[in-house]
Amino acid sequence: NDPALMQNFEARRATFAGVRHPIDHERLARAGFYSTGRGDAVLCFHCGGGLNNWQPEEDPWVEHAKHYPGCSFLLANKGPEFVNSIQLQRPQH
Ligand SMILES: [Zn+2]
Repeated sequence: NDPALMQNFEARRATFAGVRHPIDHERLARAGFYSTGRGDAVLCFHCGGGLNNWQPEEDPWVEHAKHYPGCSFLLANKGPEFVNSIQLQRPQH
């Protein structure tokens, strides 16, 4: 996968074709992620942050904010208040 192409939502979603993933492919792609092709591992096209070991109840935007709060794609889409609120919840996890 060419990271530059992964700026496109449809290109990101296409990487999940045929991948068994506990999270909906469209939700992952909307949150900036594309499949690495290795298990459930994904990468953010913008910050390059990787995530795996997904649980079915997890939200891709929340996980993005939890692990990569400095991602400007995340901040542009969800806003700093969303990211701050997720970061404030961290000690409970
Ligand atoms: Zn990111």
